[in-house]
Amino acid sequence: MTLSKYTGRHPRDANDGVRIGRAVQHHHWHPNGTRSEPCANCESTLSLHERHVLVTLVEDNLGDAARRYLCNETCLSEWVDET
Ligand SMILES: [Zn+2]
Repeated sequence: MTLSKYTGRHPRDANDGVRIGRAVQHHHWHPNGTRSEPCANCESTLSLHERHVLVTLVEDNLGDAARRYLCNETCLSEWVDET
């Protein structure tokens, strides 16, 4: 499964100029990992030590990265604009 095709796509809930810099399969190896985050698409609670999709966002002229977490590629594809 390749997620690189999502690079440069625009998330539908993001400001203009925000794009996906990187999307990867990820899990968090922290030994006391109890951290959880909501899925950016469906708002399910994700345990970060289980497999999920980590997206790094970049913003034009800032270049700084914010992170978003998604359940899987299905949620990722629903989360980006189709255009
Ligand atoms: Zn989801």
